[in-house]
Amino acid sequence: MNSACNNPLLSSSFLHQPLKSSRFPNVSIFFPIISNPITPNRCIPIKTTIKGSMESRNPTKGRSTSPRKFKPRYGTSRRSTIKKSLSQEQVNFTKPIPDDPVVGIIGGGMSGLTCALYLEKRGIRSTVFDTGIHGLGGRMGTRMIDHQPLIFDHAAQFFTVTNPKFAELVDDWLKRGLVREWKGTIGELEVGGNFVPFPSSPPKYIGVNGMRPLADSLLSQTSLVNVVRPCWVSALEPFNGTWHLSEKGKPCGQFDAIVIAHNGKCANRLLAASGLPLIAKQMKRLELSSIWALLAAFEDPLPTALNAASLPFEGAFVKGVESVSWMANNTKKLLASDSGPQCWTFFSTATFGKQNKVPQESIPNATGEKVKEAMLEGVEKALGLSKSSLQKPFYTKLQLWGAALPTNTPGIPCIFDPRGRAGICGDWLLGSSLEAAALSGIALADQIADYFEQGGPCSDEFAVGLHDEYKPLEGHDIGQFPGLDTVDQITNVPALTLAT
Ligand SMILES: Cc1cc2nc3c(=O)[nH]c(=O)nc-3n(C[C@H](O)[C@H](O)[C@H](O)COP(=O)(O)OP(=O)(O)OC[C@H]3O[C@@H](n4cnc5c(N)ncnc54)[C@H](O)[C@@H]3O)c2cc1C
Repeated sequence: MNSACNNPLLSSSFLHQPLKSSRFPNVSIFFPIISNPITPNRCIPIKTTIKGSMESRNPTKGRSTSPRKFKPRYGTSRRSTIKKSLSQEQVNFTKPIPDDPVVGIIGGGMSGLTCALYLEKRGIRSTVFDTGIHGLGGRMGTRMIDHQPLIFDHAAQFFTVTNPKFAELVDDWLKRGLVREWKGTIGELEVGGNFVPFPSSPPKYIGVNGMRPLADSLLSQTSLVNVVRPCWVSALEPFNGTWHLSEKGKPCGQFDAIVIAHNGKCANRLLAASGLPLIAKQMKRLELSSIWALLAAFEDPLPTALNAASLPFEGAFVKGVESVSWMANNTKKLLASDSGPQCWTFFSTATFGKQNKVPQESIPNATGEKVKEAMLEGVEKALGLSKSSLQKPFYTKLQLWGAALPTNTPGIPCIFDPRGRAGICGDWLLGSSLEAAALSGIALADQIADYFEQGGPCSDEFAVGLHDEYKPLEGHDIGQFPGLDTVDQITNVPALTLAT
């Protein structure tokens, strides 16, 4: 695993440094897939008008005396969300940081979990809130159908490692038996069944029992982290020097700082009237793709036109078919088995996701049927099989990832507003991968820990990412895997790499 890390182009020390913005490095070195160079980060003082009143409003009192102000924020229109975000007052905490501060982390995906883990390493307590009913992990989803038994990773499929700090974390997971290297062949599948394998390096990693079990065990050795799920934090209110979190009016606790470790519409609504206009503005600039996931179990292994017995790969980026961008055999990947039901994950392209976008919570039956049919036809075409010859799956489950992957990024490890004692972490700040999410969580934990050590409240030097511009993101439709781009790019890259 360390070979990639030894490459000077990929190695970094920035995550060992406190992330005061004046010392930010140019992260495009580590995430070269960002299409434009990143402007150097600047330490820009927060410009929004600061008024003490925002912080002194009692959330409980406010709710009873002014019901209109506290009407549920979820369900409000995008226009009203944007208006609220822009016009809200900036909260300014002035109380000194207590000796034993506690952080509220809203989101238990990779970024929120690593943030909690690294806060613990710095001796800081936290509580992670997550909506997950079946487990933590967010877009590290695994679906298991017990009585069959069937298993599918239905979002993140595997990850690669380029940064030494992430490599350290992954080494620990390897030692604890939480992840293992995926040795199965992956590559590019051209429409018609022509498969070109990627080289075996850089190594690919997977959760031993899938991605969700990995997420659930990341915090198993911590003592300073509390996890609350399922819990959908629906309001953030600053009062008397702390943040008060609640779920539909039910208090969830008070915190000395908060971390927003999720994105999309939910985060925009949560931030719309929180007293964090700069953070809210940055979050709203994020754009996300939509991707359809089709989970399908077949009685027998799938053939290609060129190989009737079985496929020469376990995972493939599909080229030339609009309805499919990735396919992977979970049975081979997770169970190393050829026999029994064959569990496949198929993802659409982002273009197909956009063309067939519907509310993900209530997919109309007709759309669901149309999408499923188009995706199975796409699989057939990709494999080069004749029309209607693909065996019928005996189990299918269709899901729309309505906020799947970021398509733009500020290219900074995290965002932190020291006046509001609030930060953001997530994949989108650096890229679109589990590695980006983990690095962002680590960076924010260090930033908060440094800020706490300084004691507050004078703190503008700790402001990070509140004004950075966004750049478009490149990569595969399901994320970035440095070193596993397209076959063309891979064969063109070595000249540069080998010369170093
Ligand atoms: C289809 C698909 C395929 C992918 N494939 C890969 C891959 O193969 N490799 C790879 O590296 N990356 C892949 N990715 C990207 C990867 O999954 C993400 O980069 C990563 O999981 C993001 O982690 P995160 O912590 O930033 O956000 P999330 O994983 O989205 O975590 C946010 C969490 O916050 C919770 N939450 C939201 N609102 C609230 C609230 N109000 N209160 C409490 N909790 C809340 C959510 O439920 C969620 O659990 C894929 C993504 C998709 C969609």
